[in-house]
Amino acid sequence: MSATFTIPCPKCGSVSTFKTGVSRSGTGVGTCRNCHKSVRIQVDGKGNVVRTS
Ligand SMILES: [Zn+2]
Repeated sequence: MSATFTIPCPKCGSVSTFKTGVSRSGTGVGTCRNCHKSVRIQVDGKGNVVRTS
């Protein structure tokens, strides 16, 4: 499953849109458009972001 999240980047603090595949465990890795760092996104069963790192 692929999803798009618009969330504050935990690396640079800017709100960015992350497009990422999400594994069955609920984690995906996207790249911030602002700082170009990889951000790990964890979502719950409803697709809500529960953690970023
Ligand atoms: Zn960033």
